[in-house]
Amino acid sequence: MAFSLALYPIAYRARFDGKGWREEYIEQPHKTAAEENALSQEERDALNEKRNNFPGVPLVNYTTQYGMGCFEGLKAFPREDGSLSIFRPDENAARFARSMKGLSMPGFPEDHFVRAVRETVSRNAVLGFNPSFSKDWLKDDFVSASAVYIRPFSYAEGGIGVGISKRPDVFIVANPVGSYFKPGKSSAVTTDRVRATPRGTGWIKCDSNYVMSALAKKEAEDAGFMEVLFLDSREHRYLEEGSSCNAFFYLKSGTLVTPELGDTVLPGITRKSVIQLARDAGIKVEERKISIDEAMADAKEVFFTGTAASVSFVDSITHQGKTASFGNEPGELTRSLNHQIKGIQYGTVADSHGWMVKV
Ligand SMILES: *Cc1c(COP(=O)(O)O)cnc(C)c1O
Repeated sequence: MAFSLALYPIAYRARFDGKGWREEYIEQPHKTAAEENALSQEERDALNEKRNNFPGVPLVNYTTQYGMGCFEGLKAFPREDGSLSIFRPDENAARFARSMKGLSMPGFPEDHFVRAVRETVSRNAVLGFNPSFSKDWLKDDFVSASAVYIRPFSYAEGGIGVGISKRPDVFIVANPVGSYFKPGKSSAVTTDRVRATPRGTGWIKCDSNYVMSALAKKEAEDAGFMEVLFLDSREHRYLEEGSSCNAFFYLKSGTLVTPELGDTVLPGITRKSVIQLARDAGIKVEERKISIDEAMADAKEVFFTGTAASVSFVDSITHQGKTASFGNEPGELTRSLNHQIKGIQYGTVADSHGWMVKV
């Protein structure tokens, strides 16, 4: 993962007091952006550690003890004119409110979310903490481009018994990010671990779901693969998604298929956007069950989608010792969708759906 934990200095905190949310922006220790760029690795590590230390935050609580919490991930993209634009923050706001309610917490108001996300990015940018646009990025369709990664999350009040958070905090932190998958490795492998079960929390972006994802992804990487593919828990036959990304299968028939949403598949915003863009291009898109056998026999292109993954080409799927290959390079549809999404985000393709929100 290309996440380096180098938090930007300004963070947002909102505390639920039983009725409303008390908001504040926290300025963590920092130097000027230029001074920070000149630091030695050791000095930088020391500063990063200070930046990730928030006094007054309870250590023992339902989130740290029991994974009772949820989060979001979204990005702000630098534009050629020097501005920053956020991709569909209203969608993340709605999902975050659903996640909090799904965990029996008070929902964080969507207007607070969008405003706080914009403000966190802009306050950091005012201090010089933001990536700037590079024309070099056009050469490889923004594969190597930078962005601001924004991480809103809930954090429970102190407590040691298993319980529900009644007075959560919501934090928003931001950090710089490059590309998610290491270049050169793009193979996927199925796992017999189970990420999500019917009636469970797979549809919520909640902390506790990522234990299984991280274990399965590590096993896949140790075996030489880039990503893992989870199958359904009942029959171990239908594809669900990757460790933290949705999966698409472009069949030889010309239909684009992605597993239908339900209890066990996370409703990705990139997923939703890719479905829209494919339909705009006149491609038939089906959200339905797709078995691993069907995908391996009938797919001509396979890709993952997510805020971190964007549209990531998969060159092969391995399942129970058999491998299906989909070529060495991204196919036409994968390339086109990646080009469009990245172009809309970085401002080089017209944003015809009005997805981008200026900081
Ligand atoms: C976040 C996430 C995704 C992708 O969602 P986006 O909104 O596109 O970033 C897919 N699957 C899981 C399990 C996730 O956590």
